[in-house]
Amino acid sequence: MTLKMAVPNKGRLNERSLELLRKSGLEMDVDGDRKLYAAVENKDFEVMFVRAQDIPRFVHSGTVDVGITGLDLVLEADLDVDKVLDLDFGHCRLSVAVPESSGWNTLEDIPEGAKVATSFPNLAWQFFASKDKMVEIVRVSGATEITPHIGVADAIVDLVSSGSTLRTNRMVEIATIMHSQAVMIANPKSIIAKGKEIEDLASSIESVLIAEKKKYLMADILLKDLPEVERLFPGMAGPTVMNIAGRDDMVAIHVVIDKSEVYDAVNTLKSMGAQGILILPIDRLVP
Ligand code: AMP
Repeated sequence: MTLKMAVPNKGRLNERSLELLRKSGLEMDVDGDRKLYAAVENKDFEVMFVRAQDIPRFVHSGTVDVGITGLDLVLEADLDVDKVLDLDFGHCRLSVAVPESSGWNTLEDIPEGAKVATSFPNLAWQFFASKDKMVEIVRVSGATEITPHIGVADAIVDLVSSGSTLRTNRMVEIATIMHSQAVMIANPKSIIAKGKEIEDLASSIESVLIAEKKKYLMADILLKDLPEVERLFPGMAGPTVMNIAGRDDMVAIHVVIDKSEVYDAVNTLKSMGAQGILILPIDRLVP
């Protein structure tokens, strides 16, 4: 059964989505900006390239079985789709921001009836309602941060990552509505009909995400140091220890370590007299 997948066709989420699919082992020909469809060469998958905003709707309607998009867009769409996997990119937050010149520092400072511009009207409305604050939501489809400067709004609700766009536009963040990242979502009926295919896809992507944070370390160490090395590098199930032909004073160890540990690990092993220290990338890691 063909698994149909929707991926953002451009914008912030496009490149990394494709990279994750490729690293998972799916071979696609997606050259050219205007491509709408790509067949996966080595699996019975079809990839459809659409706007990130449209993906929750296409997954909900069953046009595609699964999609990659921002959690913010999924929650704003408020449709019955299932989140299958957090993808750990596209991190941002949906925040309330006001002009620096307003002098407002907290939500309480925003007056009743203030105009709040946003392309997330549902989430903004729910947030202010949960705070018992009646505001007027002004729906915009982009460039939200300029609306207070042209008299369209008093405050905004917008996505923020570094905060530099807000600073450039002399706005300050005064509340966070939600934290977002890219997610994989699925149609609930597809989860029943194509559960195995969806689970395999999610676990393949997850194995790439795990592998990207790890490195494979190999080194020849003195046998007498083995207990210390085992203590320092417990790995996933302890290091793999192998004999070295012709050397009974040394053994070879292989172990998976966190990327963040590589610097110290190499220096520690070197100071213990280890030889042939190798650090290798890992493509996929299924724990
Ligand atoms: P696009 O409009 O296609 O570039 O994709 C926008 C999506 O990227 C949003 O819905 C978020 O999920 C994600 N994103 C991550 N950081 C930001 C940011 N600073 N501003 C807007 N969107 C962001």
